[in-house]
Amino acid sequence: MKIVDIRAIPLSYRCEPPYGSAGGVQSARGALLVEVETDDGIVGIGEAGTGGGSTRHVIERQLRPLLLGEDPLLIEGLWQKIFARTRQFGRRGIVMNALGGIDIALWDIAGKVARLPVYRLLGACRDRVEAYASGGFYQPGKSVEDLAAEAEGYRARGFRGMKMKIGRNPSTQTPLRHLAAGAELCEVEPEEDIARVAAVRRALGPKAKLMVDVNCAWSPAMAIEMGRALEPYNLYWIEEPVATDDIDGSARVAGALATPIAGYETEIGLYGFRELISRGAVDIVQPDLAWSGGFSECRRIAALAQAHHRMVAPHAFAGAVLLAASLHFAAATPNALLLEFDQNPNGLREELLKEPLGIDAQGMIALPQRPGLGIELDPGAVERYRTD
Ligand SMILES: [Mg+2]
Repeated sequence: MKIVDIRAIPLSYRCEPPYGSAGGVQSARGALLVEVETDDGIVGIGEAGTGGGSTRHVIERQLRPLLLGEDPLLIEGLWQKIFARTRQFGRRGIVMNALGGIDIALWDIAGKVARLPVYRLLGACRDRVEAYASGGFYQPGKSVEDLAAEAEGYRARGFRGMKMKIGRNPSTQTPLRHLAAGAELCEVEPEEDIARVAAVRRALGPKAKLMVDVNCAWSPAMAIEMGRALEPYNLYWIEEPVATDDIDGSARVAGALATPIAGYETEIGLYGFRELISRGAVDIVQPDLAWSGGFSECRRIAALAQAHHRMVAPHAFAGAVLLAASLHFAAATPNALLLEFDQNPNGLREELLKEPLGIDAQGMIALPQRPGLGIELDPGAVERYRTD
């Protein structure tokens, strides 16, 4: 079997109204589909990180020529070939985003050839995965009561956990608030963030998992101060409290707080996560399959995390194909903890698949049992949102 074509399909969904985290404002959501076509008619589907619109050019101009004519089942060999051939400008960022989408598509092909769901091909641990509701963003006019009502809605639908955004504070003791896009939207004092967390905890009840995501906004000192102030709310984790590259600062926060520190989706690849894990900067490890090199690389990251007795909670905040891939990854990873399930309105997650993924009454997602990722794209939805 040979690879005869690779296509990258950019999609965009407009957010009305926009919503914010400490890291920026979402006015549009993107996804980059990757299709790898073989000479026997099998087409693998993947999703890459969008790289601000640049990843598709890396896929089409840089990586496609390296892969045409190759055997798509030599997944690891092709992965290593791409990594080696791009090492002076790859290794982090957009090339790894591209590689992530291609790797996911190759595993989809392998599953279709083997007539097995990807998670079973990888050596399954479980047939259902617990998902948490990812939401709780800042929005103009969104009150603490509105936020609590959002949380109550997730609880009523069966979710056993929720993640919310905090850290969009005027003073974070770092320059991020001034540099991040939309710095004027819904800034709140730290005390209001604490009140927001308290309201969500009340809405969810004492047993639900409640996580907060700071999107790298705080200094280590502020993270420690806020982490202590939030201790009464029994947080399941604090996500990306400080800058991705402040590994020693994150380790200081992790050492000072009883609450686990999770991160860093904004790190890329095995060698980046090696530093975070081995230097004690994270208690819970959060690679993104699309950004961090797909199943192949994220399995290595998970194995390294396991060697350090760390759990893995994959970051998944883009389109439906990434969600499906992350679901298979979590089902095949022994130290997988939870799956992120974005609950913001997004046609790229809700409309792209003929059979969308969803939770049951226990907050679990059942694995699709068809070969490969077990998903089928809705061509009408792809046409509706494609931007090329
Ligand atoms: Mg996050």
